[in-house]
Parts: sequence; structure tokens; C-alpha cells
Amino acid sequence: MYAQSSGEQAGPLSRPAAWRRRSASYRAGRRQGDGFREQMRLGRKGLAIGIDIGGTKVAAGVVDADGTILSEARRSTPGTDPRAVERVIVDLVEELGSGHRIRSVGIGAAGWMDLDGGTVLFSPHLAWRNEPLRANLQHLLRRPVLLANDADAAAWAEWRFGAGQGEDRLVCITLGTGIGGAMVMDGRVERGRFGVAGEFGHQVIMPGGHRCECGNRGCWEQYASGNALGREARILARSNSPMAQDLLGAVGGRAETITGAIVTELALAGDAASRELIEEVGEWLGLGLANLAAALDPGLFVIGGGLCSAGDLLVEPAQKAFARNLTGRGFRPAAGIQLAALGPNAGLIGAADLSRVSSRVRS
Ligand SMILES: [Zn+2]
Repeated sequence: MYAQSSGEQAGPLSRPAAWRRRSASYRAGRRQGDGFREQMRLGRKGLAIGIDIGGTKVAAGVVDADGTILSEARRSTPGTDPRAVERVIVDLVEELGSGHRIRSVGIGAAGWMDLDGGTVLFSPHLAWRNEPLRANLQHLLRRPVLLANDADAAAWAEWRFGAGQGEDRLVCITLGTGIGGAMVMDGRVERGRFGVAGEFGHQVIMPGGHRCECGNRGCWEQYASGNALGREARILARSNSPMAQDLLGAVGGRAETITGAIVTELALAGDAASRELIEEVGEWLGLGLANLAAALDPGLFVIGGGLCSAGDLLVEPAQKAFARNLTGRGFRPAAGIQLAALGPNAGLIGAADLSRVSSRVRS
């Protein structure tokens, strides 16, 4: 689904193909006594800018070939006007690019890109509807631009530089306000036939359950996300249960202000009710992962997003529920479940790296 430069045939970026070409090119270089120049090309000129467009902020960074961020800049997301968002992107690239030689730019955003990576079909936080973003940006930035779904970009970064290294059947789950999903399979980001795979958060896990913003009821993200944690904590706080005293005390008695982040903080400080609430979310998480394992059979699930700061308080109940619900348990190897390693910058690192690898394939 990833962007190729305009006019080229587009298609899913295949890492094995990219790597084979790179090694072939290395070998050819060495044969010609040109190894040093080749390494310089892949090293210094390999800098890329990654830009992660969120609902409230736009984060950007210059990323090298090892996934290290060399410099960073941030802006507020300028409303939903596509032209204003483009101006912010141009502004960030100019600011960050002044001290570096930038080869390409990768943009990660929530939403669906068409399979040839030129058009944003839909983005929930922005007004992009069938927006030809890549063409607009390549014209403005005069560099190769790659568009990626933000969850795909984060998964790619975890696979290349983080918790998913060495795993060739990887599923990444991002727990935030909802659930983001992405897969890196055999070295390529798997987006399905139409480019919209990975919407794991909307598997119906409780028919007739909580209403989801997708319009259905009982979606997984209504049970295993930061928002779900906040909602359950508010319900508990309003129940007058003595269990919720510390929770209510932490927000000055205003139950409506409790969020998943507050519950996580209290749980880490030892509050029993908050720990129980996170355990419950962990159990829902494990159940959903067991469903995904039945369908996809990955070697590893990497769990990222804000809720991950709960650490083992979340992962251990998830692992137990996963083991208890896994199809064929006891007769099959089971996928691992690990926390993400790269934190909130995974999206921009992955977007930059995808653009760098993709532009290298074209060269
Ligand atoms: Zn839903």
C-alpha cells in the first residue's frame, strides 16, 4: 500500500525484495571496489523525516538508518483543513531539514490510504476524504513522500528496531482511546486486499454490548482500551462502593473527570481498585488476542499505546486470559505477548524508515 514516487507502479513494499536488492547492490559495489561509496549512500544520505499526525498534535523527527531520532519538532494539529495540515507539514520539514540532508519524508496518520498509497481515503481526526495527499506534498516538498497508516508505521518501527525484531509473523496492538492494529508479515506491512486491514478493535467481542463509535455494539475497543478503563472506573466511582474511595479522592470527588491515565497512575501507586480495573481490561485484551491468534497465528503480539504504562499489571492478566482462550491450547505453540519498546515515537520512526527504505528501493 505504500507510496512510490508518482508515475511508478505502486504496490506493497516488500522488505525481502528491498533487502535482496540492497545486498545485490552491496555485492555489486564490492565487486567494483565501490563498497565505501555504497555505504555512504545508505548511511548519511539515509536520513528521513517522519511525521506523525495525531488528533491534537503533529510530531516530527529526523530519523537515521538505525531508527534513532536526531532532532524533533512539534506543532498543534491545525484544525481539520487539509491545506492547513499541509502547511504545517511543510513548515516542519523546512525546520528539521535545515541542518540535515533529508532523502525522503514519511507521513503517518490515522485512517485508510488507498493501496497505491497516494490518497487518504478517510481519516477520523482530519477532514481528509479521498485526499491526494502524496501528490500535493511531493510537489510542495520536492522529495519522495510516503503515506502510512499510523498503526502500520508504529508496527514497522517495532519490527525494525523494537520489541518485534527478528519475528516474521508480527501483530501489533496499540491501546489508546481505541485499539489500533497492524501486521508485519514476512517483512512487509500487511494491509489486506483493499488497504483497510488491521481494524482489530472492531471485532465484536460482546454482542449487544457497549455502543462503539463505528456504529456497532460490543466492539473489542469498548472493553480493552484506555477509554474502556476510564469508563469502568467512572461507573465504579459513581457506585458509592467503598472500593472506589481512593479513586474518588484522587479526583476531588468528581467521578466524571476520571480517565484511563489516572486509573493507571493510581494502579502503579498500589490502589487495589485501580489494579482490579486494569486486570479486567487485561482479561479482555487476552480474549481478543486469542481470537486474533485463531485467525492469524502470529509468533508475537507487541502491545503499545498509552495503556502500556501499566506494564505487567496489564500484560499478566492478558497472558492468562490468552492462554485460557486460545484455540487448541495445549496442542500448539502459543504466540508471545510483549510490551512495545519504542514508546510514543514509534509512529514517526516507522513512517520515516518506511519512506527511507521505499525510496532506496526506487534508487
Ligand atoms: Zn467498533
